[in-house]
Amino acid sequence: MALVVQKFGGTSVGNIDRIRRVAERVAKTRDQGNDVVVILSAMAGVTDGLIELAQKAAAEPDKRELDVLLATGEQTTAALLAIILKSMGHKAQSMLGHQAEVVTDSDFGNARILEIGAQRLRQLVAKKTIVVVAGFQGYDIKGNITTLGRGGSDTSAVAVAAALKADVCEIFTDVDGVYTADPNICPKARKLKTITYDEMLNMASLGAKVLQIRSVGFAKKYNIPVHVRSSFNEEEGTMVVNEDSGMEQLVVSSVTLDKKQARVTLTKVPDQPGIAAKIFFPISEEGIVVDMIIQNTRKGGKTDVTFTVPKGDFKRTLEIAKKTAAQVAAEEVLGDTNIAMVSVVGVGMKNHAGVASVMFNTLARENINIIMIGTSEIRISCVIEEKYGELAVRVLHTAFGLDAEE
Ligand code: ASP
Ligand code: MG
Repeated sequence: MALVVQKFGGTSVGNIDRIRRVAERVAKTRDQGNDVVVILSAMAGVTDGLIELAQKAAAEPDKRELDVLLATGEQTTAALLAIILKSMGHKAQSMLGHQAEVVTDSDFGNARILEIGAQRLRQLVAKKTIVVVAGFQGYDIKGNITTLGRGGSDTSAVAVAAALKADVCEIFTDVDGVYTADPNICPKARKLKTITYDEMLNMASLGAKVLQIRSVGFAKKYNIPVHVRSSFNEEEGTMVVNEDSGMEQLVVSSVTLDKKQARVTLTKVPDQPGIAAKIFFPISEEGIVVDMIIQNTRKGGKTDVTFTVPKGDFKRTLEIAKKTAAQVAAEEVLGDTNIAMVSVVGVGMKNHAGVASVMFNTLARENINIIMIGTSEIRISCVIEEKYGELAVRVLHTAFGLDAEE
């Protein structure tokens, strides 16, 4: 017997028939003798629809009221599932974010969970009731309804699992696990049995499609095993776990592609103390997140500084950088949005030399020029021309021995 938290995403609860199937799955887990807490998303498309409605109501909808509106999507599915479970004869009850005591900060639309009281939740579970919690929502200390950012019900699920010290948090979704690469790009990609929290966190582009990244940070902090699996079949998916849980040791476990970055370069910047601070301070003040940074020193006390920012922030960043360039007497500001970042990720890299050289050689063989290189303990990323992104993923996938057997 275990305490199982099960989260179902928008497609899994997309209509009444599907919610009925969810009910059967939940009931089955219950009948096997487990305690079950369910977290639901809104029906697929509903959150988008509500945002559209609000934008028809006002060009810039008030953020507090927008969260009141968005929270209704999950309120609907939680109630419907509880109705179905009860009609099947099960002890069940729905709960909204505040009833489950999901306390957040007051950053409407992107609130962070501060703590989960879960008193009533715990009591109901002890009474063998299936509790259905509306995901994506919480409340701040003033009692305002908040939402956790798009895809936030993953984080609700992991946070509830942590608060209840659940044995596992199962994320039922429309993919059947975490793959070594995006199967749409790389037909030879295969499903991983296990992956570590840190690898998921480093797989920004690929990982974020599967789980809201914040939920992985939570899972890591509280050491909650997360099982990503399909809601449309019974197959085992991928377990996201910590590093020492005896998993298969791949040097590289995934290859990812990020096309959402743009590159900005300031040329011939005076090579003096304080210059980097002058360049990056106004950018961070605007809330723009810089990912990779490189600086190359030229002769004559000048350097070029190149960095990447999300494409959506590109224009604003250029404007800021041009102002800074004028202040520090840099030569010019260049930018490029036709770039892609390809990365190889794997905890096995920590005790393995030569991963970088395999990566560079593989790209060189295809005549792909590397524009920038960045590394972390378990990731190597190369910025390349956008048009080579998919090809790079495929050749790296093969080079690191990840291809599925025919
Ligand atoms: N319904 C919310 C969204 O679409 C939360 C979620 O699905 O996780 O972002
Ligand atoms: Mg989702």
